[in-house]
Amino acid sequence: MRSWADKLRKVVPYTPGEQPDKAGMIKLNTNENPYPPAPGVKKALESLDDQRLRLYPNTTAKPLAKALAKYYRVEPDQVFIGVGSDDVLAIGFMTFFNSDKPIFFPDITYSFYPVWANLFKIPYETKALDRDFKIVREDYRAPNGGIIFPNPNAPTSYYESLDLVEDIVRHNQDVIVIVDEAYIDYSGESALKLINKYDNLLIVQTFSKSRSMAGMRIGYAMGNPELIRAMNDVKFSYNSYTMNMPSIYSGIEAVNDEAYFIDHIRKILETRKWTESQLSQLGFEFPVPGGNFIFAAHPEYQAKDLFTALREKKIYVRYFDLPRIDNYLRITIGTDEEMKSFIDAISEITQVN
Ligand SMILES: *Cc1c(COP(=O)(O)O)cnc(C)c1O
Repeated sequence: MRSWADKLRKVVPYTPGEQPDKAGMIKLNTNENPYPPAPGVKKALESLDDQRLRLYPNTTAKPLAKALAKYYRVEPDQVFIGVGSDDVLAIGFMTFFNSDKPIFFPDITYSFYPVWANLFKIPYETKALDRDFKIVREDYRAPNGGIIFPNPNAPTSYYESLDLVEDIVRHNQDVIVIVDEAYIDYSGESALKLINKYDNLLIVQTFSKSRSMAGMRIGYAMGNPELIRAMNDVKFSYNSYTMNMPSIYSGIEAVNDEAYFIDHIRKILETRKWTESQLSQLGFEFPVPGGNFIFAAHPEYQAKDLFTALREKKIYVRYFDLPRIDNYLRITIGTDEEMKSFIDAISEITQVN
């Protein structure tokens, strides 16, 4: 054995959904937005001057933090910006989860959480969702080193009430509670309004889904200034210039175009509603969706078989071969035409219609 081989860091990495590039494919597997970003985004990219490419960017992406602060009516020092919310969440894990006690998150959730916990050597304990994939609030009252959960949850798409979120934050005021709101724009109320009431609450959101900018990699957190400062200190301890200039300036354009944003959320919600009714008619069952995706199972067909059959038709959905959810498909909401093709294909496969 070579002497360096046993010194390699061995980790089990997160497995992202595949990014196929096939002509005529319908890609409904990674919850991207089927619509282009706000028109100002491309204009900002086209008009980037040499200065902005030549110089280092602001270390806290301050111009973008200011735009977000204005939009969400918080102070700029309550906003942390990162390279996608995956970066923001990873920094959150490093900054806040430093206890000997385990952090808590649901057993069915964003599968990156256990990966970060292992990478940063953070002990964790999962709490089982109930039969309807809902959080059991009493489970989050035992001593712990921090809490994280998405709302709406992924991959179930189920949205928990603000009352439940506040209950968990209130019962855990000696640790940090991170609420991963990657899909909040498609559902109910954000817990953002609670950040001035609870100094232990961190809200994380992203430009990847509702703002159609997964390729630009912009995520952000909002919380009390002390939390934000601590996250920046951790970030500056390994890389100061994470946010590139094109992302900062195109991100501002996306935030400032509220009309476009609202209109495209509405569009996705209409298409989601139509898709829900079609799937129900075909006998699929699913939790009430709160995100731009539906988590559906059919009592008579194996999800894995449906996944494979759809794939042969170049329609990509997500399938997780994991306990409790191995008979579900996670289906991203695309355009009306894409969803029509999807429904046609799945009708044919399930031989109903
Ligand atoms: C998509 C997603 C993220 C990460 O998105 P980024 O592209 O890194 O911003 C984080 N959490 C959940 C639950 C997601 O589904």
